[in-house]
Amino acid sequence: MDDSLKPVRRVVVAGGGTAGWIAATALARQLGPLIDITLVESDEIGTVGVGEATIPTAQTFHRIIGIDERAFMAATQSTFKLGIAFENWARPGDRYIHSFGTVGTSSWMGDFQHFWLQARAEGFAGNIGDYCLELQAAEADAFTNAAEPGLNYAYHLDASLYARFLRRIGETDGVRRVEGKITRVEQDGESGDITALRLDSGARIEGDLFIDCTGFRGLLIEQTLQAGYDDWSHWLPTNSALAVQTRSVRPAVPYTKAIAHDAGWRWQIPLQHRVGNGLVYCSDHLTDAAARDRLLGAVEGETLTEPRTIRYVTGRRRRTWSHNCIALGLSSGFVEPLESTSIHLIMIGVTRLMQLFPFAGITPAIVDRYNDLADRELEKVRDFIILHYKMTERDDSAFWRRCRDMDIPDTLAARIALFREGGFAYQAADDLFRVDSWVQVMLGQRAEPRAHHAMARLLKPGQLRHVLDGMASDIRRKVAALPAHQDFVSGYCPARGDV
Ligand code: FAD
Repeated sequence: MDDSLKPVRRVVVAGGGTAGWIAATALARQLGPLIDITLVESDEIGTVGVGEATIPTAQTFHRIIGIDERAFMAATQSTFKLGIAFENWARPGDRYIHSFGTVGTSSWMGDFQHFWLQARAEGFAGNIGDYCLELQAAEADAFTNAAEPGLNYAYHLDASLYARFLRRIGETDGVRRVEGKITRVEQDGESGDITALRLDSGARIEGDLFIDCTGFRGLLIEQTLQAGYDDWSHWLPTNSALAVQTRSVRPAVPYTKAIAHDAGWRWQIPLQHRVGNGLVYCSDHLTDAAARDRLLGAVEGETLTEPRTIRYVTGRRRRTWSHNCIALGLSSGFVEPLESTSIHLIMIGVTRLMQLFPFAGITPAIVDRYNDLADRELEKVRDFIILHYKMTERDDSAFWRRCRDMDIPDTLAARIALFREGGFAYQAADDLFRVDSWVQVMLGQRAEPRAHHAMARLLKPGQLRHVLDGMASDIRRKVAALPAHQDFVSGYCPARGDV
């Protein structure tokens, strides 16, 4: 063992938004007896207050840290989410759902889309979504979390209630919470490592490892350590969001809506009693005043909050882990909320930290491994999101022409070529999104394969049709037996009165 290494025992989490409380609570639950955890947050500064749609990995993460689904959903006004409905993306009037489900059945030789493309060529294929249980359940506003039929799902949640819920668990499990504004970050004169946080109260909080969850400010990782930022706005050109909450006027559907407009898109996230709405746009193409009119003109129901503008630069922190500081959440970068990946990236970030935890001391090998994993996963997520913008046929605005004509990363260009030329899609080892996701979005964005694998032609005459018809009718039968999503939520996890 290297004697110059400093063992890590004291972990300081700076910031108490979604990222801060996920990190502190998970560490306390899993590594509690081995480390001390202090979280500093400032009520005066507050949190970003958005980030309410998740992906199914949230379920896995909650299981790992022992969170009861019912209690979590009741405390956070949550509903279930089976995917995202994209409207107006490839062309105005288009609609497709990117669901969390498996589409059809694949063979070792090739994925389901090849069978489907053959059936389509022969004139008897339904929509690709006819062969996906989650997608059909979403279309029917139906849901169950029972083991049968086993829907793959995520949640829509209230971000502030979620932080509060996690805080209760974290504090019970030993997280020490300190309220106050961080006014100075102290560093070791020689190594540059962070040694302590100074608060406006005069308090000084020392630590061995610091987790920067201070949001877009990146108070530790950037303002102090200057880890650098890769700006991706040439690929992901939106830079503003206007968010407003409205009272629900209809039953909650089990999917997020992402409705494109001529300078970006609008989200709609249904919770139990309210809906989260937001207009995402590029300020080169839409003024703030026009964005406000557009959002308020589109939402349904009484507005419950003042619309709030959030500015961002899409991109990533060059080194997520620098010195003895790890950036989690918005301080580590932001790739756009389109596929609801940020909360996942926080969860996977803290999971990786627990797996690589530097008990004996922080070494370059540990830091490089962590950064490498984080970088590779984020690049796949980035490519997946760019795909939605690049694969458009919209010609009705300067924003969409800019997206259609922009250069894209070589990695994404290669994927699009592979799909267009032969209908091939793949999930790389460090890819968050499965083949099903790439295929649903490629087809939804009208990427037309010029050819496909001929394996379906090896089947006996009539067999392909028989298999596809059987698959679709089995899904229809299962969906018909499901309760309505809103009814299921009301029975399973009604929001508590004390939230
Ligand atoms: P914040 O919420 O900004 O929290 C920062 C914390 O640091 C606060 O507690 C603050 O008080 C504290 N702090 C800052 N400075 C100081 C200081 N000097 N002293 C003390 N404390 C300080 N993610 C998803 O997964 N799904 C989505 O649907 C989604 N939608 C989004 C939509 C938009 C428009 C945006 C911008 C983001 C969205 N995200 C989404 C991302 C998601 O909101 C964030 O990843 C998540 O909320 C985590 O934020 P955070 O905790 O990093 O930062």
